[in-house]
Amino acid sequence: MLYLHIPFCLSKCIYCGFYSVANTRQKAVYLDALGREIRLRSRYLAGTPVRTLYFGGGTPSLLSGEELAGILQTLRNTFQITPDAEITLEANPEQLTPEYCRTLHDLGINRLSVGVQSFQDPVLRFMGRRHTANQALEAIRNAAAAGIDNISIDLIFGVSERSDDQWAEDMETALSLPIRHLSCYALTPEENSILYKQIQRHTHAPVDDDQATRQYEQLCQRLQHSELHHYEVSNFAREGFESRHNSAYWDHTPYLGLGPSAHSFDGKSRQWNPANLSQYLHNIEEGRLYEEREMLDEKALYNETLLLSLRTREGLDINALRDRFGTSRVDTLLEYFHSHVPQAHYTETESRLRLTEAGLWFADGIAGDAFEI
Ligand code: SF4
Repeated sequence: MLYLHIPFCLSKCIYCGFYSVANTRQKAVYLDALGREIRLRSRYLAGTPVRTLYFGGGTPSLLSGEELAGILQTLRNTFQITPDAEITLEANPEQLTPEYCRTLHDLGINRLSVGVQSFQDPVLRFMGRRHTANQALEAIRNAAAAGIDNISIDLIFGVSERSDDQWAEDMETALSLPIRHLSCYALTPEENSILYKQIQRHTHAPVDDDQATRQYEQLCQRLQHSELHHYEVSNFAREGFESRHNSAYWDHTPYLGLGPSAHSFDGKSRQWNPANLSQYLHNIEEGRLYEEREMLDEKALYNETLLLSLRTREGLDINALRDRFGTSRVDTLLEYFHSHVPQAHYTETESRLRLTEAGLWFADGIAGDAFEI
């Protein structure tokens, strides 16, 4: 599986912690470097066929059809991309014109992940988004009309500028659209975000955890009566439209990440490029691969397996965990669950340990407390 980071945005949204620069001045230079990086890392996946390809960012929809075609050609010349590969592009609504959507479809991009965040203009303005609610609606219709069947949208909840009723309206609007997948995240002021600084300076109130919890419950309840099933803490999909790319991360499948801040995983260690465009360009110019590397020992892999699996509705495969990490770890884990995790938050069978919908909201905390230290 392959991830490509496109580190350009037109401006920064206030909550965003992803690496990107708020201009496109170095786009051409960057695409040239990205092509070189693709060739430099051609052996990373050791000939394994690529089944998922993901353009993330930043704002990949700032790339023209021609620029995307160039990258795809380089990738197809370098890796064995399967004919049925899931090819996702993250897009902002304001770029999804009918023509652009048709171009994406013709290029073989078969999945769009659209950063909608809200269907309410005041909330969008607060977040620093550049689109309006109407543009978001049009974008989804344009993508569907162009024949892109697999459309996902992102929404953010727990925003103090939006009441529970307005959040309910946003969910209804989302469900009225031709989408197959929905990702919903609680507003989180990432450390390097504008909102984080505003909260530090007391120019914005801290995020209200109670509101976020309430709106997550609203979300789970409403989605139970929809065609989208809850398959991971933040993700809902029609049967068969779960993100293959993200599911592969959760299964610890090796992946190659290209571009600044992108991470790669070879099954034993994780490597990553600097989250700095100039540094990245310099490294590629010098033919230098990766800035940093972290070896993942058995304990780290075990802890990650707990975290990633418990976040999914499939949960933990107890037998596989025992085979891979040993009986004593699994016994300790089950003891921890029996004595510390409320019964309403999990179910246990001989082969599976799963968090319930109520338990999923606490998945990170439950997994963190169960970590081996
Ligand atoms: S949320 Fe998306 S569009 Fe907004 S700054 Fe972050 S990467 Fe750019």
